[in-house]
Formats: sequence, C-alpha cells, structure tokens
Amino acid sequence: MVKPESEKRVFLKEWFTSEEFLNKYYYTGEDLGAFWRKDRTQFKVWAPTAEKVFLKIYAFGSREEALEKEKEDFAENFFMEPGEFGTWSVQVEGNLNGLYYTYLVTVDGKTCETGDPYARACGVNGERSMVVNLEQTNPKDWEKDRRPEGIFQKPVIYELHIQDFSYDFHSGVQKDWQGKYLAFTQNKTSLDGKGEFFSCIEYLKWLGVTYVHLLPAFDFGSVDERNLEKEQFNWGYDPVNYNVPEGSYATDAYDGSVRILEFKQMVQALHQAGIGVIMDVVFNHTYHLNSVLQRTVPDYYYRVDSKGNYTNGSACGNDTASEREMFRKFMGDSVCYWATEYHIDGFRFDLMGLHDVKTMNQIRQRLDNLPNGEEILMYGEPWAADKTAMELGAVPAVAKNVHNLNSRIAIFSDLIRDSVKGNNFISEHKGYVNGGKQEVLKAKEKVMASVCGLCKEEMIDKIRPLAPSQIINYISAHDDRTLWDKLVISVKGEAVYNQKDPDILQMNKMAAGIVFTCLGIPFFQAGEEFARTKNGCENSYNCSPKLNQLDWNRAKEYRGLIEYYRFLIAMRQTLPVLNRLDKEAAKQILFLEEKGALIGFILEDKENTGRWEQALVYYNPNSVSNEIRLPDGKWKLITDGEKRWNLEGLEIVMDRLELLPRSVTVLGKEKRLKI
Ligand code: CA
Repeated sequence: MVKPESEKRVFLKEWFTSEEFLNKYYYTGEDLGAFWRKDRTQFKVWAPTAEKVFLKIYAFGSREEALEKEKEDFAENFFMEPGEFGTWSVQVEGNLNGLYYTYLVTVDGKTCETGDPYARACGVNGERSMVVNLEQTNPKDWEKDRRPEGIFQKPVIYELHIQDFSYDFHSGVQKDWQGKYLAFTQNKTSLDGKGEFFSCIEYLKWLGVTYVHLLPAFDFGSVDERNLEKEQFNWGYDPVNYNVPEGSYATDAYDGSVRILEFKQMVQALHQAGIGVIMDVVFNHTYHLNSVLQRTVPDYYYRVDSKGNYTNGSACGNDTASEREMFRKFMGDSVCYWATEYHIDGFRFDLMGLHDVKTMNQIRQRLDNLPNGEEILMYGEPWAADKTAMELGAVPAVAKNVHNLNSRIAIFSDLIRDSVKGNNFISEHKGYVNGGKQEVLKAKEKVMASVCGLCKEEMIDKIRPLAPSQIINYISAHDDRTLWDKLVISVKGEAVYNQKDPDILQMNKMAAGIVFTCLGIPFFQAGEEFARTKNGCENSYNCSPKLNQLDWNRAKEYRGLIEYYRFLIAMRQTLPVLNRLDKEAAKQILFLEEKGALIGFILEDKENTGRWEQALVYYNPNSVSNEIRLPDGKWKLITDGEKRWNLEGLEIVMDRLELLPRSVTVLGKEKRLKI
C-alpha cells in the first residue's frame, strides 16, 4: 500500500532534523552553484536525497526563444558525480558564459527538472539558470564603488519600490527607463523635465535620506517578464531565485546578464548620490511550493506540522525552515553574496519572526566578517502572519525575544506606529497625533517609551531591547494604509484623500516630528513626506501601478510638508544624542513633568558634539495650544512644529512658551563660551 504523502512528510521531518542526517549531509563548502572560468565551468548542487543528478545545458533561457529564433535549444546532458555530504558535481569544458542550465534530479525514482537554488543568473521568468562571467556584468568603475562615508552613523531609511519610483509619466525619467533600475542612473531629474521641481534621484539627494530600502528586487514570480508591454505591478514578496535580480525592472529580461549589470548601475548611482542601499529579503517563504528548493531536495526546506501538513505562518502558502542547517547556510550565503557582489548596505528581513534567533545572529556574524561588514544594517519584522512549526527547540526572532538577538539586529516598532496614529488595522482607531482627550492620554506612556527607543527600564512593556540600535521607528510602510490615508479615514470618517486639509497636514507633521526625535532608527515610506495617498487602499500589493506610483505632481503640491521632513532629517544630525545607538543614550533623555498628555524632555549633549548644549523637545497632542513653563535659561526656538523652523534657531524664549496645537516644538540652548 502506498503511504499517504503526509505520512511520508512526517517521516522525512524526523529524518531531516536528526543528528545522523546532519553528520552525514551538512555541507559547509562555498562552491555550490555554477562557477565560470574561461575554459571550464564547475557545477555543484546539494541534493542528498537524490539517486542521480544530471546537468542539462541549453542555448536559451526559455523554449520559446529557441522556437522563435528557429534554433536548437538543447545542447547537452552531463552526468553529475556524487560527492561528499550529499553534493553532486561536474566540470564542463569550454567557455559557457551566457549558456543556460537546469538539473535533472531523481528522487524515489521520480525525475524533476529544476533551476539551480544557487543560480546567480537566469533566463526570462527565472525558469532556467545561467552561467555567467560576473566580471563582465560590472559597470564602469565598479571597483571604485564604495558605501557612502558616514551614513551608518546617521541612518534615515526611505522605503521605496523600484517601479513606484519613476513609473509616473511626469517623473522626468526617460520613457524606456520609467519603472526600471536605470531610472536611478538618470541625473538632473525634475518634474516633467522642466527643471523647476526635483524628482527621482535629484529629489532623494535634496531630501537628505541616507538609505533607500528597496522592496523585493531579487527575482520574484508574480510579474510575467515575458509580457512587460502589459501593465503589471507587484510588490514582489514571492521569491523565485534568491540570488538573481528581478527581470521586470531590467530593460531586457531575456538576457540574464542585463539585469545584473543594471542592478549594479542602480546601486552605483545611489552610492554616488550619497545613499546606501538596503534590500528587502523574503526568506520565509517561496512563491509556491514547487520551487527550485523543493524540486532539488523535496521537503527539506519547508516546515510541516506533526501531521505532515505544510504550515502557513507566512500566509503565503508555505514556510521555509531556517532552523535546518542547510537553509540557515543558504540564507547566510545569499545575504553575503548580495553584500559582496552587489555592494548592498543593509538587509530587511520579511516576517523575521518566522526565522530563528540563531540564524539571524549567525547571519550578523557572517556579515561582520566581511570588510566593513559591521556597518551593514540588519532589521526585520519581529512577527509572523500565522502559526508555524519551528523545530529543534529554535527560538523565533519575534519582538519578545529581541534581547536574544545581536544588538545590531533591529526590529520594527509597532508600538510607536500604533500609538502615534492609532491601530493600523482599525480605520477609526486614533492615537497620539489624531486622537481626542482620552486617546492621547492613553497613548502618552507608549510614546514616551518610544522616545527612549524602548530602553528605559521602568517603561519597558514586554520588549527588552539591548539598545536603541534594535529599534526601527516608523509610522508608515508599504503595508496597510499610507499615513495620510490613515489620518484622513480616522479623523474624517470618509474617503476624502485628495482634499488639502490643514488639520490632517498638521497631524502628519506631528507624527513625523515624533519619529525624528526618538532614539532608534527613523524609517518612512516613500511619499509619506508628500501626503502620499492610495485612495485608502490597505493592501496594494497587486493593484495598478498608477495607484502605487509616486505622484510627482502631488509632491510639488505638498512641497511645504516635504520641506518640513527635510528639516527634521537635517535637525536630527544637529542633535547627536538622537543618533546614539547605545543603551546609555537613554540616560541622556530627561523627562519633564508635564500635565495631561503633554510630553517634554531634555536632550543632554554630554559629549559636546552637537550644535546645542541642550535641546528641549515638547509634544503637544491636544487640538488647542498649551502654555508651558520652560526650564531655566535662554532657549532658542528651532521649530514650532507648524510653519517655522531653522537649524540655527529663531528667536530667544524664556520662562513661558505657547505650544501650538498638535505640534512638536524643539528648542536649543547655546553652548557656553569657554573663556
Ligand atoms: Ca521574475
């Protein structure tokens, strides 16, 4: 009798997690994949459950291309030798650069054709892997490309989707580069190319953000690369080839070397603009279960429950198993590859709560071992979408375990997000900047905890970060409503997203003012600074590109709001305590006794490295102005949080000050002259 599939999976689950399997098959070599040399290419694949493996070489990246060109597609099959720890390898003579390949893996008498999990290049839609001479994919002066100096000391992260960035017809980017990697390489970009209002890369430079965090840019499956004339859009949280750039953002998705070159050109252009590049990596699941991982080693890479059912903690149909050594290694190998080959400056882990602490710390260690690797940022979502089945007693990298993570692995703080603007998932829910009397009072304590990067012990809730370096402060990201839409729907109760509303604008300013005056790493969604709207859409992952794109006309319309963000980014650099990522930094924040929902605090500058001896920050979440008593001394107003701001300070104020409604006020005390 044939065993049911689920029963077999329970058996395999035990086998794959056994000590015996580990001893027999844990392969630590760094030579998995295809390694090109001028006169021969070396192929190696890990497939411990296979009975035999063949390498298949093709002339084209897809069958259709061969048919279209009326040329022979298939070239040759090569027998692969079984080697140590479940690997199979073969060396093929000749110059194979630009040829495509797959593996024929036979397990339990069943043969499956698959791409290479370690592919570093591929054909259209990522179906076939490609042999590549990586040196040939380097843009001019790539060897001189470096991480911009000093950005690591002042991280301000801008979350951006590659297509959104320049898809707008008004973006000023040349037509064939709109929505593509190459859009980043076009200089002097302005709205409609008129030179009056910056757009795209010039805009980013002007704004002053130090990192761009790109939504998935590895090869994903939800956009058909064969059909790019058709309007398509997806965020890209559906990995196909982890170590290859996505093809739909390239000017040619068929020739596997083009996407590599153009991705590198994008990185180079951002670096030249003084901006670091962070990749959103989605190791927690694959596009579908019939992935290259599954076809190569069936059921090794995925979690199943005790009954043999695949778990779905990702809410995307499957969960990978980071606690199994060969996937743990795969994740580390992939991240290190992007950091070295593509000069990536940081990684954001999607649903990091589905990974285990040991894996995350090991990746940190491996990045640290690279030249200047300690500067590479690591952060992730400290939650899962649903239940998973982590094995081997592994500890999930969720918020409550943050103290088990390396102090340089950060988590998104949903505490600041939800206390500032109200619960993300409930339209009418309000928070500190948009709430009524009761709501702002309720949020006060959480906002105060956020000011300290959740690092003041007496305030800590359930989360115990080691230092502010573990906290990403944000109020909007690609998920859920844009900040503007959330404020509008929560306050107005109706969908009036295109009305310019001074009250909503002020709440937006206040929310940003808070994020930029907290300990931790500030992060915001592209366009938050110009009241980005998606017409209330909560999940635009596969909506039209027009709904998702950055609207550069709207940017011009909300220029005042952008200028306020630009000021906040610059102001943060004059208040060095805020950029401190060590635990002691929280001790340099002294809260003042403020009545009701008001929050006031002093930022000390004991190291004397900033513009001011002390800074004073007030949050007034009330819809009316409030008079407060200032601490002793002469204070220069830096911003009233509404219309007035100046990095050098405006007028001097003493004793008493009127805080504007829904505002963040900042003041500075001049340094005493040394005689
Ligand atoms: Ca793709």
